[in-house]
Amino acid sequence: MNFPIEKVRADFPILSREVNGQPLAYLDSAASAQKPNQVIDAEADFYRGGYAAVHRGIHTLSAEATQRMEQVRNQVAAFINAGSPEELVFVRGTTEGINLVANSWGSAEVGAGDNIVITQMEHHANIVPWQLLCERTGAQLRVVELNPDGTLRLEQLDTLLDARTRLVAVTQVSNVLGCENPVAEIIARAHQAGAKVLVDGAQAVMHHTVDVQALDCDFYVFSGHKLYGPTGIGVLYVKEAILQAMPPWEGGGSMIASVSLSEGTTYARAPWRFEAGTPNTGGIIALGAAIEYVNAIGLEAIAEYEASLMRYALQELRSVPELTLYGPAERLGVIAFNLGKHHAYDVGSFLDNYGVAVRTGHHCAMPLMAFYKVPAMCRASFVMYNTTEEVDRLVAGLKRIHQLLG
Ligand code: PMP
Repeated sequence: MNFPIEKVRADFPILSREVNGQPLAYLDSAASAQKPNQVIDAEADFYRGGYAAVHRGIHTLSAEATQRMEQVRNQVAAFINAGSPEELVFVRGTTEGINLVANSWGSAEVGAGDNIVITQMEHHANIVPWQLLCERTGAQLRVVELNPDGTLRLEQLDTLLDARTRLVAVTQVSNVLGCENPVAEIIARAHQAGAKVLVDGAQAVMHHTVDVQALDCDFYVFSGHKLYGPTGIGVLYVKEAILQAMPPWEGGGSMIASVSLSEGTTYARAPWRFEAGTPNTGGIIALGAAIEYVNAIGLEAIAEYEASLMRYALQELRSVPELTLYGPAERLGVIAFNLGKHHAYDVGSFLDNYGVAVRTGHHCAMPLMAFYKVPAMCRASFVMYNTTEEVDRLVAGLKRIHQLLG
């Protein structure tokens, strides 16, 4: 394989810094990925030479900024193969996208006696908005449980799905186990039952191509910051007919057609109806740069490189004494583990001293921690700029901690 790893690493300035006197081994990209110069420059250049508020502006800078923002909508549509850019709402991130669906679509379409199906491996962002909706409406939240290896007990859909199921909300890739769920199959089964499906793509879009039309999902959501883009920007895809029928969520400027104090307000077409206020245009433009960056390398090449890195990491980690790995063998990007009986925070602090950045804690997936009966895990995550040398440093660090702490 001929992946241009040196060139890729050189694009990410932070990767050459030191932490605690050691070269940084950044294994926390599943929480948030680092940014290449192309993304940093796109955002800085916009503020330096192209900045203005979008929409409504008659002047050149405003028109240019509006045009660039709408170009990124086109780019995102191509990136996930949406049928039209008008199916895409710019949001702050995955969390806001899911809350938008729960508050707008959910409030209109879900009522007492209905049910929503989620899974036990969801991120809190794909649990709590549905709990809140159920509390508000009197709907019931149902949960697909897990097999001992962490995969979904899909047979439970036979009984969980029924005529009152309005939505199945499922993550494409678990942020803890790294397993990819068979979302196409889940979507087909949910549709047979008459339910809509929301796919949380936060941990998927950076690892392989996503085709929302082929999946046939009704809602798809992801965050820019895990895709090498800036924080504070994400995308919600909604099938056009559903989106156009959804009521407004946040009210304000830019989402209206007309406002009258005596005759009330009429609203803009979607997606603009869901983008109240001045948008994060700098973030949107930089998200466009991130997509361009990933496309230039190619998601197929990225997937192949990451797959070989993951195979190597799993193989090497198995040589660490008393290491418990969580989740099935097949996984994308993340490896969660605990070392002996040591608390994940202690292990993570030691690794940090060695310059190895991993995440520790419940990973916003407390029901999954409950399933494994642990309060916390360490999670090392790997993306296209990570290397086998970094895997070696993680493994050497864990072996040293095992020697020191027993
Ligand atoms: N879902 C999954 C699977 C995630 O990994 C994350 C980020 N940790 C989120 C949702 C929430 O994303 P954000 O914090 O960017 O809104």
